[in-house]
Amino acid sequence: MMTSYRPTRMSISRSAIVQNIQNIKRYYEEQNRPIRHFFAVVKANGYGHGMEEVVRASESEVNYFAVATVDEALRLRKMTKLPILVLGPSPVESIPEAVTHQITLTVPSVEWLVEAENQYPREPLILHMKLNTGMNRIGLQTGEEIERAFQLLRNTAYEIEGVFTHFARADEEERSWTDEQVRIFEELLQYFPERPSIVHVSNSAATLRFPEYVYDGVRYGISLYGLPPSPYVETILPIRLIKAMTLTTEVAKITKVPSQSQISYGGTYETKKLEYVATLPIGYADGLRRQLTGQQVIIKGSKYPIIGTICMDQCMILVNENISVGEIVTLIGIDKGEEISVNDWSNSLNTINYEVCTSFSARISRELS
Ligand code: PLP
Repeated sequence: MMTSYRPTRMSISRSAIVQNIQNIKRYYEEQNRPIRHFFAVVKANGYGHGMEEVVRASESEVNYFAVATVDEALRLRKMTKLPILVLGPSPVESIPEAVTHQITLTVPSVEWLVEAENQYPREPLILHMKLNTGMNRIGLQTGEEIERAFQLLRNTAYEIEGVFTHFARADEEERSWTDEQVRIFEELLQYFPERPSIVHVSNSAATLRFPEYVYDGVRYGISLYGLPPSPYVETILPIRLIKAMTLTTEVAKITKVPSQSQISYGGTYETKKLEYVATLPIGYADGLRRQLTGQQVIIKGSKYPIIGTICMDQCMILVNENISVGEIVTLIGIDKGEEISVNDWSNSLNTINYEVCTSFSARISRELS
């Protein structure tokens, strides 16, 4: 936990994260398809929840972590001894350091492997090969590419531990896109001289929907944090998801503002009568996007709206004479039966919950509760 003099903090529920993992594992065990390799996806600072807090909460329940970059992996390596997979393309120059710190890299293309074989053929590097089956982002996409890759690998000390692909539309009701990606994946697997020990395709949406596609493991991201991958998947969840994040602050100041006064930059809100305005120490530099004016917060079980333009470090809410300085304000979470969720914010912002939670900045201190 970071110490902070600012009362704006995020609390991450250890038991929510543990239950989210245990519940999905149990769901698979009940179907006699135990998940052999559970990759907890903790990229982007644990989806904004705080990588360290999430790792501490989940480490005993999973057997692999996944991040997007080598830099994230190096940070993560200081927190855990479990294997770490970098999902994205990594510069070839990072190979020696990846080996030193036992970080597994992804083969994003044949060109990458040519460069790697040229520069660091003798490094005992562990790799997962990425197959492009329809996302068209990274990965090998033809049998010839895979054959070429294995020719190159013969000149190296590298080990292909895993192979994976990523679904583009597993969160949508129409499943044919995902089925087609699996068909292509299976076709490409035929070109492997032997099947790598960890074959994995499923993100949260696929894990929650398609037990038949579990292979040897799942890469579980958004639902580890108790959030649904999409509105559609939310309607067909086979298990309960428990939200891990609570975001709170405290009232920093109350201003009694006379009628017809303007609040904040640009005067976008004008008081209609004598109004009580509370100032909160959270702003857009923390992830409280400016478009969230109008969004509600909870104090003592009642909701109050954000008014006027949200500033970089502070914002104002409209309260009443019952609210005092120091009172706890819940921006995301539950207070006395009232709830505001990450999804409420993403709906107001017309975006997805992934973008909201990953937008909480490093300035907010995180703690595990
Ligand atoms: N696998 C890869 C390659 C990803 O890029 C991501 C996230 O974007 C995940 C798994 C986890 O996806 P989700 O958060 O939908 O579970």
